[in-house]
Amino acid sequence: MSVLPIVICGEPVLHRPAAPVTEFDAELRALVDDMYETTVAAPGVGLAAPQVGVGKRLFVWMYEEQDEAPVQGAAVNPELWIAPLEPGLPGEDEVEGCLSLPGERFALRRSSHALLRAQDVDGKPFEVRASGWFARILQHEFDHLSGLLYVDRLVHPENRAAQKAQRKNGWGGPGLSWLPGVDDLEG
Ligand code: ZN
Repeated sequence: MSVLPIVICGEPVLHRPAAPVTEFDAELRALVDDMYETTVAAPGVGLAAPQVGVGKRLFVWMYEEQDEAPVQGAAVNPELWIAPLEPGLPGEDEVEGCLSLPGERFALRRSSHALLRAQDVDGKPFEVRASGWFARILQHEFDHLSGLLYVDRLVHPENRAAQKAQRKNGWGGPGLSWLPGVDDLEG
């Protein structure tokens, strides 16, 4: 297993839809193992394949603060249903981050409940119900597979702050990445 470099906002693979996984083989298992290790090293609570430069419909989560789902899991070819978004502006407890925009955080409203249906690393279907922060993680990672970053969903004034932060960091073009455990960039 190895820690993988995480690509930064601006890398094209982050901004286009990922392709379905068709082979449930040793290569996929190795990728998932490396993604777990990278998530631990970052540290983070979730990681989508495009963030390690792989344009496939796959993400992992590692999150203990929820009851129903396993503490860690891989969602391959996921589908996600979410509860209607309650109107209003995001609260202070809704500040989100992303390993592809390391060190930055912005407030974003998310649905409080989500239902995930996906395949595991062997291709076996499973279902997970999520609420609270775990529902947020699933929405965040699922968005990555559509080529969406959470900063793409921000509303005023958070979107302005995010644009400013990206300029300040010199992000937005291709070719940037960081290596967890080596580069000290964690969010
Ligand atoms: Zn992210």
